[in-house]
Amino acid sequence: MPELPEVEVLARHLRPLIRHRTILGVKVRRAKVLAPTTTRELKRVLRGARFTGLSRRGKYLLFQLRRPRSLAPVTLLGHLGMTGRIYLARRLEPLPRHTAVVFNLGRENLIYEDTRYFGRLTLDTTAVLKLGPEPLDGHFDPATFARALKRSAQPIKVKLLDQTLVAGIGNIYASEALFRAGLSPKLPARGLTPVQVQRLWRAIRRVLREAINCGSTVPLNFGGSGERDGLFYFGRAAGVPDYYAERLRVYDRAGQPCPKCGVLIKRIVQAARSTFYCPRCQRKREARVETERNGLTPRTVVC
Ligand SMILES: [Zn+2]
Repeated sequence: MPELPEVEVLARHLRPLIRHRTILGVKVRRAKVLAPTTTRELKRVLRGARFTGLSRRGKYLLFQLRRPRSLAPVTLLGHLGMTGRIYLARRLEPLPRHTAVVFNLGRENLIYEDTRYFGRLTLDTTAVLKLGPEPLDGHFDPATFARALKRSAQPIKVKLLDQTLVAGIGNIYASEALFRAGLSPKLPARGLTPVQVQRLWRAIRRVLREAINCGSTVPLNFGGSGERDGLFYFGRAAGVPDYYAERLRVYDRAGQPCPKCGVLIKRIVQAARSTFYCPRCQRKREARVETERNGLTPRTVVC
């Protein structure tokens, strides 16, 4: 499932490509993804509108548009759900089977495709009002973060998925940030010490920044059909290394050696989602000093 870095990379990629382009036509094949907006309303509002910008908030894409002879801006909200993809394709190309919405931009179509239809593309933007702070901007500071954690008895891994705590972290980066911070995913959120909160705060920002930088530098194929193409936006052409998997240190690595200490990575289920962690580096009681002392350095990561 795409998280903050993947959505950010997609927004940066699409922004210059759609800016100043006008929607000549709208085709809706799966009206469910528009809810509560209706097909008729979407067409009425967006036909003839011009893209003025594209930004991200949490895991949401916010397309800014302007309608002809109107000063009021319009915002179209996109969420990729589990398998959603948004990309440009030449108009002559046949539409993929799971196409949900198509915007005719002239020579190209802007296609919203979703095989499982958990994503959304709607004029209803209320979802972003409930989001917590953006982890990479100044409103997300250790003190605010600590206060929010103090109110929760949930395991820290589960709490990190709460979009009202901090926006944009999903299952992958929650596991990765906890590993970098050397914290057990099972620790109750409110039990973290100020030093642990500070470490986690720093790890979250580092892990997200690294992922954005990584996604910004590797070849991407947003409309491709390879195993990872378009899904996590770290797709690769034949012969190009899989940077995406290489970058993750614990996620989806159960049974493989921890890059810091060599102990096998474990998988557990928390709130019906997989969590991956190192049982030695991420003990419930501090293990950080020990892992630093044993002299092993983290595995070198590509990009
Ligand atoms: Zn370890």
